[in-house]
Amino acid sequence: MTTPEVTVRGAGIFGLSVAWACCRRGARVRVIDPGGPGAGASGGVVGALAPHAPEGWNALKAFQLDSLLMAEAFWAEVRDTGGIDPGYARLGRLQPVADAAALARARERAAGAAAHWQGRAGWEVIPAAEARGWAPASPTGWLVRDTLSARLHPRRACAALAAAIVARGGEVTAEGADAGRVVRATGAAGLAEIGGGFGTGVKGQAALLNFDMRDRPQLYAEGLHVVPHADGTVAVGSTTERDYEDPVSTDEQLDEVIARAAAAVPVLHGARVMERWAGLRPRARSRAPVLGPHPAHPGQFIANGGFKIGFGMAPKAAEAMADLLLEGREDAIPDALRPERSLPRGGAG
Ligand SMILES: Cc1cc2nc3c(=O)[nH]c(=O)nc-3n(C[C@H](O)[C@H](O)[C@H](O)COP(=O)(O)OP(=O)(O)OC[C@H]3O[C@@H](n4cnc5c(N)ncnc54)[C@H](O)[C@@H]3O)c2cc1C
Repeated sequence: MTTPEVTVRGAGIFGLSVAWACCRRGARVRVIDPGGPGAGASGGVVGALAPHAPEGWNALKAFQLDSLLMAEAFWAEVRDTGGIDPGYARLGRLQPVADAAALARARERAAGAAAHWQGRAGWEVIPAAEARGWAPASPTGWLVRDTLSARLHPRRACAALAAAIVARGGEVTAEGADAGRVVRATGAAGLAEIGGGFGTGVKGQAALLNFDMRDRPQLYAEGLHVVPHADGTVAVGSTTERDYEDPVSTDEQLDEVIARAAAAVPVLHGARVMERWAGLRPRARSRAPVLGPHPAHPGQFIANGGFKIGFGMAPKAAEAMADLLLEGREDAIPDALRPERSLPRGGAG
């Protein structure tokens, strides 16, 4: 490859998506990651692309909505270009309704979705019987159904992006030199490196169960994602751990997640556990994604902070970063996502 115009450090979902967005606009791109695609948080198993509740509308929620609405075309092009299927499907999501107050709130949110989701997805309250046996237990007999949520398989999504980048003439390599515009998409390690409390890693554990619900919606109950994948597995997750010794080991906290998932969705009782997995989510001080000029490496750029929703945010984050890298435009990056939002007073530490 001739000298790259864009070098991306980090082959997680953020780095690969930014690289792909630049590639498809014709730029020469090199992605460098000593661990290969999906070596960090992005190599996991859950893959829920689920919206924030449609209330308290703001620029971050609007950015996420755009991203979720872009996802279907984004992943179809990735699949068709590189030949690997990321397992994307927009099959919606079901959530239980705990009590009368929750029912009233769910109906308000239905109105919020009608106001903000551009008529392109719905949020409604339905009787549990409509779920045909695949639903979380719901004390009221009602469920919230949204038609915006989608799923993909995280690990396969990284492999699919890497293949698409290579198919378009880009390079994905374990080592190499920086050239052109440099983007640091190095996940939790990259946030910690900035210092001053800019960001950190928050551990999560998740499991894959042998249970085939591939054409059915994902479920969200008791704070857990239950996500059927195209390969006949169901992912359940996750823990949220600020204190941990080993970022990638699993333990009894995951046993508890699996037990809680089976209590919330009784048909999962006894399903065989096929894989246990853990990783470090990159969480910025702002808790939002961080896109823009790098706060600690002048002249370079940062794409990080996906925290719990990195996969859903990736398509729009990638386009906004390509605008910045290739056209010098920052207008697609809302203030809430700017790096300075995570700086302590007085700059990077
Ligand atoms: C258990 C769990 C469940 C989750 N579930 C969901 C979910 O359902 N939906 C969702 O949207 N998100 C989910 N997330 C969050 C999501 O995984 C993250 O937001 C996302 O993976 C972050 O992507 P990233 O590319 O920023 O970081 P990473 O995937 O961590 O990638 C960073 C990469 O940088 C590389 N690297 C580090 N240092 C260097 C260096 N100096 N040079 C080159 N490369 C370097 C690493 O090897 C790594 O591959 C979950 C996370 C966990 C842990």
